[in-house]
Amino acid sequence: MFFIIIVAIVVLIVLYGMGVFSKPAPCQCCGTELKGTQQIKFGNIHSQFILCKDCENKIHPVIKDYANSNWSYSDFEDYLAWEEETKDERAQFSKTSSYGSYCSVDIDKKRGLFKINMPLIKEGMVFRFADLDDCDIDFRPEEADDGFLNSTVMGNEFIMVELTRPNVRIEEMLTLTACYSAKKKGVFSTKYEYNLSDELYGFIRTFTTCIYLEQEKQNQAYAEESYNIDEIEKALALFMFDSMEDVTEENLKRQRNALIKAFHPDNNESNERYSQKINEAYDLLKSVINK
Ligand SMILES: [Zn+2]
Repeated sequence: MFFIIIVAIVVLIVLYGMGVFSKPAPCQCCGTELKGTQQIKFGNIHSQFILCKDCENKIHPVIKDYANSNWSYSDFEDYLAWEEETKDERAQFSKTSSYGSYCSVDIDKKRGLFKINMPLIKEGMVFRFADLDDCDIDFRPEEADDGFLNSTVMGNEFIMVELTRPNVRIEEMLTLTACYSAKKKGVFSTKYEYNLSDELYGFIRTFTTCIYLEQEKQNQAYAEESYNIDEIEKALALFMFDSMEDVTEENLKRQRNALIKAFHPDNNESNERYSQKINEAYDLLKSVINK
């Protein structure tokens, strides 16, 4: 009898865990009504949300673990938006170099993309250097043998990448094939100097070059986009606006017409230059509000 009660309790706990007693609820993404057993509770423990299997499968397996313990629903939404926006760009990935074996990183230097491959995951995930927020490549040597001045040590390299979009942090061990030699810094020293392999150097060099190239690209885009503050001030003064907050497309157009009329080139030769200035200022302010 006692045994039967224990079994019954265990069965109830298992069924509860499977969600048999949970109320039906919709998938937050597609709205499909789900029975208790079909509900996947996803995301950060403080802001879990319910997904159906199909919607959960939209998350790439490379980032699923991180997403499952860190995301809120807005992170999930942002991921879907990012995925859509960058799909075509990332589909063009074609590797120019590859590092590591167990977990590996492929790089497409030309397009500014990198791909993280993980064991047991069929297809790696492609990210953009443009979305990289932080990155760290870390060499962790195994203990070198204290008894020798020179010894050969094996080590592991860890790569950590943090992205702004999608909200992801990945830390993986790269197994680059080379060994490393270590040299004691002095006979009585316990400190070693490590000679990193060409392969690791190659990886660090390529990765940092790509980050640098991406930064250059962004700086250039920023320089092209950014306006000369003085010019904006002058344009505002010309149009008699106090600040950009006063500028709307409508009142900008109205003010320009009034000024052009007042300083019409036909009335006065020196007005020609003035009306050109008005048009330049108009174009500038218009481009600022349309940005
Ligand atoms: Zn769904």
